Amino acid sequence: MDRIGLPAFPVEGGCVCGAARYRITGAPLAVYNCHCTDCQKASGGTHTMSMPIARDRLEHLSGDLVHFDKPADSGRTVRMFGCARCGTKLWNEPLASPQMLVVKPGTLDDPSWAVPIGNIWTESALPWVAIDPAQVNFTGQPPDRQPLYDAWSAATA
Ligand SMILES: [Zn+2]
Ligand SMILES: [Zn+2]
Repeated sequence: MDRIGLPAFPVEGGCVCGAARYRITGAPLAVYNCHCTDCQKASGGTHTMSMPIARDRLEHLSGDLVHFDKPADSGRTVRMFGCARCGTKLWNEPLASPQMLVVKPGTLDDPSWAVPIGNIWTESALPWVAIDPAQVNFTGQPPDRQPLYDAWSAATA
């Protein structure tokens, strides 16, 4: 794993139309790709990037948000927040883990440092998507995210 250089926090991000803005005040716990079919639908692409972060490190600066409560396979609920005007997905709130949020790092003003260190739900990855076998990969939902957190910590240390 190549070394990942973190930016000087805080950093900001926002939606496509510019109405919804947020600030991140410290490092996230990890960045990884999710290839589940819901993420393919929600992104309109091959996968989404997920960036779990302690809830108190994300500040909502501006713009009205809408949310959708998505049932997960586990029976838990993920509340997905997006801009009320343009619909850009900004972050998810796993209701079972109220101390954290999962930001969509592609919405950062500069996402270049948010390098994924692993992949989840590889069993539903689209056939032309290359999964690096040297990364921390799970065929489905990881039983816990600690191996992803550990790989991120090692890469950003
Ligand atoms: Zn917007
Ligand atoms: Zn997913």
